[in-house]
Amino acid sequence: MALVKEPGGCRGEEADAAVTSCPGAALAVLTADCAPVALSSPEGVVGIVHAGWKGLLGGVVEAAVKSMESLGAREVFAALGPCIWPHAYDFSPADLDTMARRFGPVVRSVAPSGRPALDLPAAVGSALERAGASLSAVSQTCTHCSPAHWSWRARADRGRQATVVWTPPR
Ligand SMILES: [Zn+2]
Repeated sequence: MALVKEPGGCRGEEADAAVTSCPGAALAVLTADCAPVALSSPEGVVGIVHAGWKGLLGGVVEAAVKSMESLGAREVFAALGPCIWPHAYDFSPADLDTMARRFGPVVRSVAPSGRPALDLPAAVGSALERAGASLSAVSQTCTHCSPAHWSWRARADRGRQATVVWTPPR
């Protein structure tokens, strides 16, 4: 968790999430199939999360929301950006069981191949709900299928899309 205290703070630091209460400090994550989650609050505290399945299990969403609350956020809203959707996300049954135990049966899906698949957007939604945040916007774009987005699983792309959140300086 990167706690950004000024514009440019924590620049280039490796982290799965960042939060700030500093107006004008832009937070960004780079993703290819993992879920980018932008968090905001009426109090001006913002956060950003790189949510892969392992990060979700590690509680990255809950930790980001908690950090925002410790900075003064009272209500947290979330927007989920483009990520991989279940039709392209074949998943090992054992790992899917682990995810379902943590985030509920809603994360279970089936790929067109008939194999078990992880519903990553549903897992993010469940993690947000458990953290007390509201999911207010969901991109319907699947990175695996979209020709306009990078995808690791579809093409082993090295490129990443950036998702950015900030509060404008007053
Ligand atoms: Zn797709």
